[in-house]
Amino acid sequence: MNDCLFCKMARGEIKPDIVFEDEALLAFRDINPQAPVHCLIIPKRHIATLDDLTPADEAIVGRMVRAAQQIAATQGLTRGYRTVMNCKSDGGQAVYHIHLHVLGGRQMSWPPG
Ligand code: 5GP
Ligand code: ZN
Repeated sequence: MNDCLFCKMARGEIKPDIVFEDEALLAFRDINPQAPVHCLIIPKRHIATLDDLTPADEAIVGRMVRAAQQIAATQGLTRGYRTVMNCKSDGGQAVYHIHLHVLGGRQMSWPPG
């Protein structure tokens, strides 16, 4: 996906503030943080939305959740944190390359907006 923002980050063409990387995933700080810690975890391979996941993607989604746990630990979120994956327009998805938000460092409220 040539013009996908997060694919450009995965290819190294745009350099975000990286907090975690392995062969399949990249995680970086959100440019418009909604909490003291706000990171996004993406697969390096383009997947547009949660609705586009297939059974073959189960491992990568599992790795994303495990990366959230690791980032929370390295960012000092010992009191807890929130993970969010927005899906399409009603879910508030703005970037159509799946990403798991990791938010922490303050008390979260419920319900979300
Ligand atoms: P969504 O609304 O799709 O779930 O979340 C997209 C997130 O990407 C937003 O929180 C937004 O602030 C973040 N974002 C958009 N453009 C950029 C960018 O160029 N760099 C970084 N680091 N984050 C971005
Ligand atoms: Zn992409």
